[in-house]
Amino acid sequence: MRCPACEAQGFGYEGMHKHLATEHPDLVEISSAGRSSYSVKCPLCDDVYRQAIKRGHPDASFIQEFEDEIRLVGTDILVQHLIGEHPNEVGYDGGGDVRE
Ligand SMILES: [Zn+2]
Ligand SMILES: [Zn+2]
Repeated sequence: MRCPACEAQGFGYEGMHKHLATEHPDLVEISSAGRSSYSVKCPLCDDVYRQAIKRGHPDASFIQEFEDEIRLVGTDILVQHLIGEHPNEVGYDGGGDVRE
């Protein structure tokens, strides 16, 4: 697969996921102001997924603590979106086991 946000390519599913999470963390935006939420922006079609963050303890340290985890979940949504909506653009062949 090819990265939709830069020139990198040759990824399997996990590789794509890891690349997006580490190289393009800004694609998952975490908002802790007011009601906490995160949004995932597709770099190809500008679709935005917005999701509230459910949490038991409404304090800022919670967000800090779970930000990495939320980012991974958001990145997973993005990879699924890319495979589902933009298989040609990201070079997903649509068959077989895409995991590394
Ligand atoms: Zn990239
Ligand atoms: Zn898209």
